[in-house]
Amino acid sequence: CGIVGYTGFRDAYDVVINGLRRLEYRGYDSAGVILEKADGEFEIKKTKGKVDNLVAISKELHNTSRLGMGHTRWATHGVPSDNNSHPHVSNNGKIAIVHNGIIENYDTIKTMLINKDYSFKSETDTEVLVNLIQYFMDKEPSLTFADAVRFALNEVYGAYAVSVLHEDFPGQIIVARLGSPLAIGIGDNEYFVASDASPFVEFTKEAVYLEEGHMATISLTDGIDIRTIKENTRIEPVVQELRF
Ligand code: GLU
Repeated sequence: CGIVGYTGFRDAYDVVINGLRRLEYRGYDSAGVILEKADGEFEIKKTKGKVDNLVAISKELHNTSRLGMGHTRWATHGVPSDNNSHPHVSNNGKIAIVHNGIIENYDTIKTMLINKDYSFKSETDTEVLVNLIQYFMDKEPSLTFADAVRFALNEVYGAYAVSVLHEDFPGQIIVARLGSPLAIGIGDNEYFVASDASPFVEFTKEAVYLEEGHMATISLTDGIDIRTIKENTRIEPVVQELRF
């Protein structure tokens, strides 16, 4: 029920864990964290229960990475369990997603993917979406990460806020929303993403609230690129000054 992401110069683990604590009021049953290490590889820890439980199994990740994301889950598809907790990773281990909301047509897509030999480790609707992204990249290897995310989102309906990482596209965080909120915090050489601004207000007062049906590719090198999910139309970010 909460998403936090970070890329910048701070300890991503601390930003994500403290951010998840600020989102605890939204309610949740599980929590997870993913960090992109310097060599580009992912490190993932997730567990049923409180953010405190997550910290107990992930403390050693403190100060190991400058890019990461985290999730608190309110189970809709699949019981609360370590396995159903987010992040979820695609079959090739390269794409990782955190998701709030529901993918209504996950069953149809799951059947299609199973027929094409993709397998599933969890009972979630979310794991279907991350494998659908991989499916588009497998089918068309020249596709950019952002295009693959967009193609996949155009196949699903329901309500979502998502944040996605790809090991072959280090430094990029892709977020999208339809029916669930998502804010991007803009600092000096750093970006935050979160379900609301509370995880990043202590660091920056500048925010872009992602609009319905929009996605954003965020990186320190290229900044923020916002597109409509349907038409891939480029949207100029509207930066708001937060008053807290
Ligand atoms: N539908 C997803 C799941 O059950 C996400 C739930 C949420 O919003 O936290 O895992």
